[in-house]
Parts: sequence; C-alpha cells; structure tokens
Amino acid sequence: MSSDIKGLNEECGVFGVYNHVQAAHMTYYGLHSLQHRGQEGAGIVVSDGDKLEQSKGHGLVTEVFDESKLAHLPGQKAIGHVRYSTTGDKSYENIQPLLFQSQTNTLSVAHNGNLVNASRLRSALEDEGSIFQTTSDTEVIAHLIRKGGKQPSHKRIKASLKQLEGAFAIVMLHDNQLIAALDPRGMRPLSLGKVGDSYVIASETCAFDVVGADYVRDIQPGEYLVIDENGVNSSYFSEPNDRAICTMEYVYFARPDSQVDGDNIHRTRKQLGKKLAETDPVEADVVTGVPDSSISAAIGFAEASQIPYELGLIKNRYVGRTFIQPSQELRERGVRMKLSPVRKVVEGMRVVIVDDSIVRGTTSRRIVSMLKEAGAKEVHVRITAPPIKHPCFYGIDTSTSSELIAANYSVEETREKIGADSLCYLTSEAMVNVIDRDDESKNQGHCLACFTGNYPTEIYDHSVLPHEKEQSVEHSTS
Ligand code: AMP
Ligand code: SF4
Repeated sequence: MSSDIKGLNEECGVFGVYNHVQAAHMTYYGLHSLQHRGQEGAGIVVSDGDKLEQSKGHGLVTEVFDESKLAHLPGQKAIGHVRYSTTGDKSYENIQPLLFQSQTNTLSVAHNGNLVNASRLRSALEDEGSIFQTTSDTEVIAHLIRKGGKQPSHKRIKASLKQLEGAFAIVMLHDNQLIAALDPRGMRPLSLGKVGDSYVIASETCAFDVVGADYVRDIQPGEYLVIDENGVNSSYFSEPNDRAICTMEYVYFARPDSQVDGDNIHRTRKQLGKKLAETDPVEADVVTGVPDSSISAAIGFAEASQIPYELGLIKNRYVGRTFIQPSQELRERGVRMKLSPVRKVVEGMRVVIVDDSIVRGTTSRRIVSMLKEAGAKEVHVRITAPPIKHPCFYGIDTSTSSELIAANYSVEETREKIGADSLCYLTSEAMVNVIDRDDESKNQGHCLACFTGNYPTEIYDHSVLPHEKEQSVEHSTS
C-alpha cells in the first residue's frame, strides 16, 4: 500500500471484531487464517472503550504474538492486519494497523489494497502542513480524516474515503465503533460475520470459520458500515462504480475454503481446471497441480480430461512464498526449497502440470526441469489464467512489465524458455465465464487489467510509467 512507483505493492489481509471479551485473541486467530495474504508483518490494535493499545511486529502472526502479548491487549473491539511488501519498504512504522492518537481523539486504520492517487493526495496534504510518519497509503487516509483537527465525524470520514482512488478494503476503530469500508468498485473482498453477539469483518470468509462466526454478507462497493452498541448501520460513502473485483483473488490469492462474492474458491478453481481441459486438451498419463493454489484446478483438469490426478509435486510447508525473495537468484533457490517432485509418480510419464499463473516464469521453469530430471517423458504446462502482461497497481504484486515474461515474450517463446513440451493459458473470456458460472446475469464485473492492460480506474500516480508501456508493447508478441 505504499505509494512508491516500483514494486512496493502489498497484498494484505484485514480483520476486525466488535464486542468480544477476547477481541485480541479472536483477531489473532482471524489473522492466522489470513496469513497467506501477507507474511511480512502483523499487528493488532484493541480498544477497551477508553484507549487504543497496539502490538505489532515483523514476521508471521505466530512469531509476532504469544499468549503474554495477547494478554496485554485487553478490550472488546479490535482490528488486525497481515502485511506483505515486496521490496524496500519494510520498516516497522509501516506495519499496520496504524494508530493515531491526539488529545481529542484516537483512530486506528488497517487497509488492504493499493491506492492509485496516494502520492498526489500526500503531496497536497504535505503542502498543507501534514507531517507523515510512514510511507504507507494508509497514513494518507488517516491524514485526510484528521484534517481540520477536530473529532472526526462519519461525514468527514466518508468525505475522505470519497477522495481515494484504487482498491481499498478498510477496517477502522474510532470512538468505540468498528468501521468497515470498501472501494466503490469492490476490487478487494471484505465480508461481515457474526458469532453470538459479536460481529467480525474479514478479508476472507476462511477467517470466520476459525473463530466460529457465521457468514452474514459481503460488504458492498462504496459501502460504509458502522458497528456499535446499536448494531450494524449501513450507508454509502460513494455511489457504487462499475464493479471490478480482482480476478486474481479467484485464480490465485484467496484460500480455497473462502467464499468470494458468494462463490467457493475451490469450486471456482476446479471449474477453471475443467475449462482448461476442454479448451486445451493434451494426451498425457498424469495430471498434477502446483501446491497449494493450483491443486483444485488440477483436480478439475483431471476430472474433465479423465487423466488420473496424481501427487506429482510435494510442497515443503516451512518455506514462505517464493515471491518474497528479493533477488532472482534467491527466488530460484526458493522454488527448489519449496517444491520437490515425486519421482515414482512422474518417471516415464507424460505429465500435465496445472498452475494458476506465470509471472516471471521462475516457478514454471524450475518445475519443468525438476519433473524432467525426475524422469518425466513430457511436461505440458496449463495455466488457469491468461498471460500476465501488465503490472497491477491495486495491491497484488505482479511485478513490473520488464520482469513479466508474457510482456516480453510470446507464448511459444515462453514455452521454450520454461522448457515445456506445450504451454497453454485460459483466455480472459473463458476465465470470466467460469467465475460468473456461465451466467450472464451474474456478471458482476471483474478487473482484468494485468491481463488486458485496461485499468478500471485512472492510474494517476502510475501514469508516469510510459517506459513500461513501451516495453510491454514493443516485446509483446503473443
Ligand atoms: P513466477 O515464478 O514469477 O512465474 O510466479 C508464478 C508463481 O507465483 C505461480 O506458481 C503462482 O502461484 C504464484 N503467484 C502468482 N501471482 C503471485 C503474486 N502476486 N504473489 C505471489 N505469488 C504469486
Ligand atoms: Fe487483480 Fe490483476 Fe486487477 Fe491487480 S490488475 S486487481 S491482480 S485483476
């Protein structure tokens, strides 16, 4: 969520709870189940009705918090955040939730997504005298809200949210209330749940299961939800704009047991795999998926193609996501540490390997060569999304154009580079049809910008990247 142009995008998860005696513990469990959305830092802010207390740190949720830390966070309301950032901006100050205390009020904010006009807003605020403590977009939101100095009213908070452009799913603690808001295009998922007399808000519904909450509904684009002693009060800070929910949430990012926009992610991925088997069939002996995010799709591919699904790759669970490694060399080693082939399954076989995406090509190249080294006769790569040719400015790290293999090479060149016997991607149309369950009436609008280059918003701060556009146009041949 930083406003820096290159590579500071973050994928994050947010959680909030209202009216639970162990709000910090609930938040800990919620964040733990959202850990896949960010492994670099975690934080919790609790409110006991009088004041807000904060605890945060670098690392996994289990590394940042232990029982004694949670015991020192008393209160019945809490918000929490897990954070992922790619390069550079790893400072402690940027770990969320951010907490702002003044003599008259306290406010805490946690945010998932990326603003595309944060730099502009920040410059304007600095010109007016604001002094920033962090490089996070989230602080821009807080400064907008606090501008004027007095106790922020809902009217002022809503007016501030209206100035933001991009993707934002926000939870806030303010004045004894838990507030949730979603950007007018609904680009990131955000849901409301209930457990007993408590309410919970989470980036993904998998966080509800772990705290025993029932799913109530999704927060709507442009919606502003205030939860307090009067219950849940819904209003809108903005008219909903054209819906643009991130397709990568379905394809890669969300956990298979989550529901996004009413659809179970495992089911959707299985259907994507099935569709791929229809559009790009291949004669083979076994189908395997890249763990964990592509297992569901591989099962679907196997079912539709009637080629047996096998466990051809094993994941070492104690290695973080390869993307986190900053240099290409470390990323390559990361893939080797993370995945191992099951020799007995692939030896002498024609293998279909299903994955959700190719970004830089590191994972696919390593997997193909690992499978071949383990004796696979042929390796056919099937991807359940279209080629990623454009950077994402909305909070998913899909890297810059110069690093994106599909921005620089055709499908055939990519196939050659990764050493596969064949390589096929799902088309945007096929992917969207699956996500919409082939039901036009359900077409809720998707962001496809990293595939098509059609960004659903103005990209403001990022429009200074013409060299990236040139690069992707010059070299894009597929
Ligand atoms: P790469 O090795 O750079 O081609 O990255 C592709 C692999 O990273 C795939 O196996 C995906 O499951 C995974 N992936 C795709 N998008 C992202 C992302 N935004 N952040 C982290 N990993 C990703
Ligand atoms: Fe998601 Fe791609 Fe859009 Fe980014 S550009 S929000 S990753 S669909």
